[in-house]
Amino acid sequence: MFIDSHCHINFPELAADLGAVTGAMVANKVTHALCVSVNLETFPEVLAIAERFANIFASAGVHPDAQSGEEPDVERLVGLARHPKVVAIGETGLDYYRVEGDTEWQRERFRTHIRAARQAGKPLIIHTREAAEDTLRIMREEEAAGIGGVMHCFTETAAVAQRAMDMNFMISFSGIVTFKNATALKDVVREVPLENLLIETDSPYLAPVPHRGKTNQPAYVRFVAEEIARLKGISIESVAEATTANFLKLFDVVQATASQNSSESRKRLV
Ligand SMILES: [Zn+2]
Ligand SMILES: [Zn+2]
Repeated sequence: MFIDSHCHINFPELAADLGAVTGAMVANKVTHALCVSVNLETFPEVLAIAERFANIFASAGVHPDAQSGEEPDVERLVGLARHPKVVAIGETGLDYYRVEGDTEWQRERFRTHIRAARQAGKPLIIHTREAAEDTLRIMREEEAAGIGGVMHCFTETAAVAQRAMDMNFMISFSGIVTFKNATALKDVVREVPLENLLIETDSPYLAPVPHRGKTNQPAYVRFVAEEIARLKGISIESVAEATTANFLKLFDVVQATASQNSSESRKRLV
């Protein structure tokens, strides 16, 4: 079985037919998915999906690319994270690729998320693009190691991966690892130990080969696992087993599922 550690199935490409999305998950042995927030305005959509499907979890956060909408403070994020199906804070981080000019607000927002995660006791989902040094520096300054989390859609070097792992972060690979020209990243996959590895789709974007260029979905996470198995020269079963165990270790889905079951049985009793 596989777990998609990072998807955006609340985006219109996928939200229109969630029955098909979850059906394809079942058909491809994808047992769980984490639907990641990118802003506070659409957080209720993400949470509604997590409340509807027992095997889908949510996160609370504002993406570093988001330049309009409500700016979160620590209290707001900690409040949202109190919901049992919210298993992480993010996605947060730094992205100097898309944003021009003064980026101090991005670093401030990133610090807010790390403080919220530490206070809420829930791990971080970190996005970093063309900003690896500042990302690692702020993680260190804000003591992100105290809560840990995941470097999602990882595209940096093995050295950056190692420094993140030293701060209790897992490394999550997306469909990019299946792209022919991603030779440097394929080498990084070979170097990251299985016990620090997660898999994700980041759907609806970044569909892996053989679906490259089309709409991505959580079911396709198996193609990411297949490529990782090939690169490491191990079976797909061992990739599935390790990444599933890692996900369950990092995110408290047991408590989240238990709370959902009890609220559902309460509903039935009423
Ligand atoms: Zn991201
Ligand atoms: Zn994302």
